[in-house]
Amino acid sequence: MNIIDGKLISQQVKDEVKAKAAKLKESKGIEVCLAVILVGSDPASQVYVRNKKKACEYVGFKSLSYELPEETTQEELLQLIDKLNNDETVHGILVQMPVPEHIDEKAVIDAISPRKDVDGFHPMNVGELCIGEPGFVSCTPAGIIQLLKRSNIDISGKECVIVGRSNIVGKPLALLMLRENATVTIAHSKTKNLKEVCKRADILIAAVGKAKMITEDYVKEGAVVIDVGINRNQDTGKLCGDVDFEGVSEKCSYITPVPGGVGPMTIAMLMNNCLESATGE
Ligand code: NAP
Repeated sequence: MNIIDGKLISQQVKDEVKAKAAKLKESKGIEVCLAVILVGSDPASQVYVRNKKKACEYVGFKSLSYELPEETTQEELLQLIDKLNNDETVHGILVQMPVPEHIDEKAVIDAISPRKDVDGFHPMNVGELCIGEPGFVSCTPAGIIQLLKRSNIDISGKECVIVGRSNIVGKPLALLMLRENATVTIAHSKTKNLKEVCKRADILIAAVGKAKMITEDYVKEGAVVIDVGINRNQDTGKLCGDVDFEGVSEKCSYITPVPGGVGPMTIAMLMNNCLESATGE
């Protein structure tokens, strides 16, 4: 069994981005710039935003930070997005989700210019992904493809089962795996005989949000197992995935740990999307 080291692979991606960003600055005088907006003071969101700013610093991007009070109105937020949409020096705009309840998440996503939507949440980018055109791809699914490719795991022709159908992980990941020529099944809470469905998988991806739900009984001998889940144990405070690592690692050929698997890839791919936005690739 091989452990897929997401920390190492995300570091490689960030170092590649850093080198390309430096070249862009040198050759064209363009400094990649990401604007990050946080509304309210949710502690988890504050940590995510801080990590994104740190990553920008590491790869040599400029980051603009807007930390707005909880009572910010939707109108005020949309005005800020509009200003950033029209600012040519800004290449990526990210609004940290979730936004407070009085703000309509969809209106916010729709307001971001698809050309600056480095999270890949705008319906236009989702549509482009669906029809196989270039556009920004949601960072966690894009990171999973990189983990597989950089571990030399063949995707083409493989049976892939994804457990979870969210808009930010399961669905875009299914489209990406399809683009890579996998035969894709998406399972969810209404799926019958989930164990049997999962056991068909050469590549099994769990994006459920239920601690250690995927035990060895769900896994075919020699399968590749990707664990997207991030669950915190209430008693110990420790993080664990959707996969029961101990049991499953005995049976699979490759597995991602939690933490240190899919998690670090998300920010690395965000940096990559910002770079692509600036280079126009
Ligand atoms: P989500 O929006 O809550 O979606 C969960 C999905 O799992 C839903 O499609 C749901 O089915 C399905 N599901 C729930 N219980 C199930 C069951 N018993 N059997 C089969 N399917 C079941 O979650 P998400 O945003 O996709 O996130 C999933 C996990 O990934 C979470 O732990 C989250 O923290 C983590 N995550 C990690 C990263 C990262 O960077 N590593 C990024 C994003 C998310 P229905 O649609 O039928 O309800």
